[in-house]
Parts: sequence; C-alpha cells; structure tokens
Amino acid sequence: MTHLTDIITLPHGRPGTTRRLTIHRFGTGDGPKAYIQAGLHAGELPGLVVARHLLDHLTRLDAQGRVKGQVVLVPMANPIGLDQVLLGGHVGRFDLASGVNFNRAFADLADSVSAALRPGDLKADADANGRLIQRALATAAAALQPRTEADALRKLLLSHAVDADIVLDLHCDSEAVMHLYTTPACWPLGVADLAARLEAKAVFLADQSGGQPFDEVCSTPWDRLRARHGGPDTPIPVGCSAVTVELRGEADVDEGLAAADAAALIDHLAWRGIIDGPAPAVPDLYDLATPLAGVDRVRAPVGGVALYHVPLGASVRAGDHVATILDPATGDRHPCHARSDGLVWSRTQCRYAGPNDILLCIAGREVLVTSGPLLTA
Ligand SMILES: [Zn+2]
Repeated sequence: MTHLTDIITLPHGRPGTTRRLTIHRFGTGDGPKAYIQAGLHAGELPGLVVARHLLDHLTRLDAQGRVKGQVVLVPMANPIGLDQVLLGGHVGRFDLASGVNFNRAFADLADSVSAALRPGDLKADADANGRLIQRALATAAAALQPRTEADALRKLLLSHAVDADIVLDLHCDSEAVMHLYTTPACWPLGVADLAARLEAKAVFLADQSGGQPFDEVCSTPWDRLRARHGGPDTPIPVGCSAVTVELRGEADVDEGLAAADAAALIDHLAWRGIIDGPAPAVPDLYDLATPLAGVDRVRAPVGGVALYHVPLGASVRAGDHVATILDPATGDRHPCHARSDGLVWSRTQCRYAGPNDILLCIAGREVLVTSGPLLTA
C-alpha cells in the first residue's frame, strides 16, 4: 500500500478563516508521474464525481500493487471556490475577492528554469535532460512567494503538477459535448489516445491561449526551454503532456457518465505505463483536433432572449441560421449565422443574452482569431 493523504491548510486566509486542500498520492515515485485534479472551477461538478470514482479505482489498484509510476489526485482542487455560494448560486469560476478566474494567472516558470540552467547541465540524453528540467521546475515552483490565499492555492497545485509527465485538469463547459484543450506538441504524444478513450467529440490546439491557465503553465515551459536551450546535442523532450478535459456541460452530473469517464482515464494511465494492466485498443482520432483560433463563437448581435436552432453535436455549414435573438419588448427577431463549417460543441445555458454575448461555439478548421487571448473570460 502506497496511498498517502496530505491535508494542507492554505496560508494567507483572512483572519479567523481556514481552508484545507486534500491531496492523494499513490505509487512509489519510480516511473512516470500523473497529476489529476478536479474542480479548479469549483462549480463544475462532473469532475468531482469522476475524481471520486478515480480515488476508488486507485485505492483498489494500489492494494493490488498495480500503481507502477506515481499518481497524484486532487479531487476538490479549489476550497476557496467551493465556499462561494452567493444568494443561492454557486460562483466557482472567479475569485470573489479579486475577480480573477481561478484558472488563470498561474506562474510561468520557464524564465526561472532558463536562468537556473548552467552551461553543460544539458547533455545528449533527452531523458536525463527531462528529469533535470522536472527538478528545476519543482525548485522554481517551491520558490514562488504568494501573498494571497488564492495565489497560495495556485502555488500548491502547481507545485504538485509541474514535475509530472501527465497533467489532467478536469473541467466542464456550460452545455457541451466532451472536448479537450491541449497544445500541438502534446496532441500526438498521448493526448490523442486520451481523446479516443473519452470518446471526445472535439479537441482544440493552441501553442498558447493566453492568461496562463493551469494546463499550459505545466506544458508550454518545455516548448520555450526547447526553443532556447534545445538542439541536436541537447535534446529537450515534450516533458509534460497537459490537457484540460471538459467533461461535457454543468448539468451532466451523472454517476453512469462519471464511472465511464473514470474507467477511460484509468485505461489511459495503463496505456501510459503508470497502471499495470491492459489498455484496450482504441481508434485513431488524430484528425479530430482543430485550432483553438478556429473556434467560431457565435455572438448575440443585440440583447434579448436566445433561441437555439441547432442541438449540441450538430454539424453545421457556414451561413446556417443557428440561433435567433428575440427582443421581447419589440418582437424583433435577429438571426445569428455560423461563419464556419463544423461541429456545435458548446452552447450557453443562460438564454438571456446581452449584446455580444457568446451563444454557441463551432469547431471550425480555418483560423478566425489572429491576435489576443483565445479563451473566454
Ligand atoms: Zn472550467
């Protein structure tokens, strides 16, 4: 049995208040490391149910001696956000104290690691270079000096994830099909397997989407370090395969779905050699990925009530009439059209739209956004 449970009190809480983060660790530390968290956006509940199933799987597999690498699981990653129930509604996406999205503003450690590397540190052995950089990332994370409780939480989560080989951040959208976000470097090296096992319907790729979300501060420092220090004599691997897994929509809280999703994640860990066991073959979904910059976000031209004309998962063509905004005061109807061919992968639950609000999103293949952040607030 290798299961350890850490219960850590967050520093920098307001006087008289205390919040704790629970972290489960399985495995001996030898071999590849996977880090999985759920509920960074605290109101996104499908991940919390999946994480509970994962904890049960991992406890059983650990008792059987089948955790070969290391797995770190944080089933409820945001105790600050979990506590933000306001007037009967859960505000789990943004920190009420600062207004900052809980999945933004994570520290990018590439510069710290770059500055710490000395001539001759990197050798011709990519695996050894990878381990060296993992240790340097962990050291850089440990040196962060947060001043607020939310930043202390960010440091704590990052510290456990940044030296992992695989990072899975479990989220969900408003109303959505199963979809993933990752980088072009990570996609062919394992994320395509994960997409197939989860039966994802869309995958979005970006080198950097802006705002420093959790998955990207784990994966993209490797790309920048490779650009600065890598070469034929100093190869630097894609050291961390990080993915944001969007477990459908907020209302898709279902024990059967969660059980199937958790089983798929365990199979993926087996395929990666972290769990000892067979990983059933899955189809090649390599062509599923589209550029995040190609997402067609259909917006309300004016405020009003949103009427959708296409269901989630529908394939639409550019020019299709996909929604209407009804002005209930005047009776005017404003049609909204797709700009791209592609799959309708998300819709906004709230049908009361303000001007320019996003109504639904289409996975287009042609780049539509050439500057600015690629993620929504
Ligand atoms: Zn989220």
